[in-house]
Amino acid sequence: MNVGRSSRGGGGGRLLIGLALAAFAIFSFFASSQYNEITGEKQYLSLTPDQEIALGLQAAPEMMQEFGGELPDPAIQGRIDQIGYDLVNNSVADDTPWQFDFHVLRDDQTINAFALPGGQVFITMGLLSQLSSDDEIAGVLAHEIVHVLARHSAQQIAKSDLTNGLIGAVAVASDNASAAQTAAMIGQLVNMKYGRDDETQSDTIGVCLMLSAGYDPNGMIEVMRVLEQASGGSQQPEFFSTHPNPANRVTKIEEAIANAAEDCPK
Ligand SMILES: [Zn+2]
Repeated sequence: MNVGRSSRGGGGGRLLIGLALAAFAIFSFFASSQYNEITGEKQYLSLTPDQEIALGLQAAPEMMQEFGGELPDPAIQGRIDQIGYDLVNNSVADDTPWQFDFHVLRDDQTINAFALPGGQVFITMGLLSQLSSDDEIAGVLAHEIVHVLARHSAQQIAKSDLTNGLIGAVAVASDNASAAQTAAMIGQLVNMKYGRDDETQSDTIGVCLMLSAGYDPNGMIEVMRVLEQASGGSQQPEFFSTHPNPANRVTKIEEAIANAAEDCPK
């Protein structure tokens, strides 16, 4: 069907639309600045808390599928829930909109833990079986809870929204069809890597959560030792993927413990 596109000036029109979309993408990136009370930082977000929660719930089944599904063990699940909700209910996390769910993944070969936006937190049996105390488990869960509180995923998504907006603008200008795919977004979420600063923030504010809930924050240092040993093999835990120097990370956790009274979010 002839849609009646004029050959005269049609390209210029599309270019203008493309430029307008690019301008809108940049505008919406800067317009979404918000203050995060937990981190004390201004951040640029394109999702509301409700959207983050919905997205995390939508992506959770794929995350579970990738690591052998959920472990059907009520005793282990109960212990993880107890520690997880202890951390959430007795810290600054309590006064936030996030809906936390803690999942134990059956995979016992992968040593890892993850968080999806909105409050979905996962730990593999591979990692859990290496941990020997509630304080160590609390160290892992506190770190993941902070990824949620600090909205690290949403921050990454906002950055990729900007990218997608610009790509969309280019596509319109060059007359290519392009559609945003929820599936692609979910794939992106499940495989998301945080930056080194995000990891450090999750460690240091994680220490605060542990202290608030009455756990020994040295448990987090023990987790680093466990991961350091594990990374000697072929495994690459998420915790280490963006941290080439584990000794630095332990030093920063020790500093966070020493300065907790001053630095922790109130
Ligand atoms: Zn992390």
